[in-house]
Amino acid sequence: MTNLVSRSIRYGVDFNVLVNDSVLPQFKTKVKTSCGSWLDDAQEILDLAIQTCTTALVTPDNVSDRFHNLISYYFGLPSGCSRERYRACLNAILSRLNRTKSGLSNGVDLADREQMPYLAKASTYVSWAFCQGDPTERMAGFVWQDFLESVPNYAKKAYKIRKTKWDQKNGWISTFLGGQLNGGGFEKPLYYPIHLNFNKIWPKGRAYCIVTLIHEATHKFAETVDHEYFKDDGSILAKLDQAIRDCSVWKDIYLNGDLKNDEDREAKACARVAEQALKQLRGENPAAKTMQQIGEMEAVNNADSLAWFAHDVALLSLEIT
Ligand SMILES: [Zn+2]
Repeated sequence: MTNLVSRSIRYGVDFNVLVNDSVLPQFKTKVKTSCGSWLDDAQEILDLAIQTCTTALVTPDNVSDRFHNLISYYFGLPSGCSRERYRACLNAILSRLNRTKSGLSNGVDLADREQMPYLAKASTYVSWAFCQGDPTERMAGFVWQDFLESVPNYAKKAYKIRKTKWDQKNGWISTFLGGQLNGGGFEKPLYYPIHLNFNKIWPKGRAYCIVTLIHEATHKFAETVDHEYFKDDGSILAKLDQAIRDCSVWKDIYLNGDLKNDEDREAKACARVAEQALKQLRGENPAAKTMQQIGEMEAVNNADSLAWFAHDVALLSLEIT
């Protein structure tokens, strides 16, 4: 195993990348330089996304409808929901983005796909035995979580679910008893490095590589799971704008139809058009539909939702400034 020390230029973070001893020098150089620049971009994306989400929380009127549409798409939050529900969803997103960002800023360890911990390797041999091949070959990346990590996490999750149910009945007493556990103080990132399947992700382009890094980092630092993956070209911003333009022919029909005498007719007609556009896009990408079905408080734990959302929100904030 060779340990390459790389450094993100703008943010000045040193970090390790583990690769096979037998790989060619060109491969090592490419790994080193791409990881450094991906880490820079990943941090910038997370910074921008965190800023915009914070603005949305503090001064909701200062963020555009496009931002709200991204939340609806990636986390299935209904656009007309209550302010409390919207804030709860935003808070959950923010806490995960913040944990991911601070994890990446503190010298994260990366590794090539083949540099698996012993147990992970053993599990891929099991898969070989069933003639299913090495599952990691098909993955863009992964973070290995061993038994000792997964059991306490599972227990904690089960406890949290029970606590929430109990909360509903017992109100403030449970807040007093359980405050420590939900405070996040004892939660720690997973032990193993972020594995990237370099040969698979390089051909898919820079944006995909950076989003993959963010996706895996949310697993490592924010305990996310894979409910479903958005398609390779996950970014939806341009498609969303186009879909809204396509659906806008309906706006006049709404304005002159049942909304004719409504005081808030303009805003309501726009909201309906956006809803229609979102519905159309969900039909094209099953992951977005799944997020709507599982609900926003579970969708915020989906690694791909967080990673592509952060990517699109960063694009959005760069466009405005
Ligand atoms: Zn994943």
